[in-house]
Amino acid sequence: MRGKRTSDTIRVTLHRTDPEAPSVFDVVRIEPMMVLDVLLAIQRDHDPSLGFRFSCRVAMCGTCTVRVDGRSTLACQTRVPEDTVALRIDPAAGLEVIRDLIVDTAPFWRQWAAVIPFTPDEERVEPAVIPPDSPERELIAPALDCIGCAACYSGCGVAASGRDFLGPAALQRAMVLLADSRDSATEERARVVEESGSIDRCHYMYECTGACPKGLDPAKAIRQLRRWRNRGSV
Ligand code: SF4
Repeated sequence: MRGKRTSDTIRVTLHRTDPEAPSVFDVVRIEPMMVLDVLLAIQRDHDPSLGFRFSCRVAMCGTCTVRVDGRSTLACQTRVPEDTVALRIDPAAGLEVIRDLIVDTAPFWRQWAAVIPFTPDEERVEPAVIPPDSPERELIAPALDCIGCAACYSGCGVAASGRDFLGPAALQRAMVLLADSRDSATEERARVVEESGSIDRCHYMYECTGACPKGLDPAKAIRQLRRWRNRGSV
């Protein structure tokens, strides 16, 4: 978000799929103002046909991911600084644009599904609880709050380069499930991850970690997967 002076309006430039549709708007400033407020103001006061997604407004549903001045983020959680006079909003990267700021998240969810949902071990006899102070819990807990917003995917330079790369969120999910002793799909999941070649294609640029609105660290999870693979422990 560029600019130093305070202004009554913000000049907002947007990606539009229809080349005839207006893409520059002067939006009346309110304070505080989130990026989602900007989009809603454009839809209400300038162009009702503007396409974007949102639902919960409290960074839980993960549907309002966009790029603001190039950085992948949740529109509802990103505050527009007071001295902003201009900003640019684009759709999430790495996914096909359906309309304006709306992208097709199907590839993201296909990769999430590919690492296999939690599969309880039916033969387990101990209680299905991971002790709060155990190393297993320490590994799993910081990676659990994923809301599936795909901001990490949008920030990742590798994710869009090939759909066989599983992407930061799915790899983090795989790490969580591989660490979970209650799960019984370990071998199959490890094989999916290994055969995708994803662990070695991550270049540790940490864009995923920097973009995550929930403060998760998918790059750390991928490092953990690599450690396990190199030790032969999954
Ligand atoms: Fe969103 Fe973070 Fe989950 Fe990626 S890891 S989908 S950025 S919540």
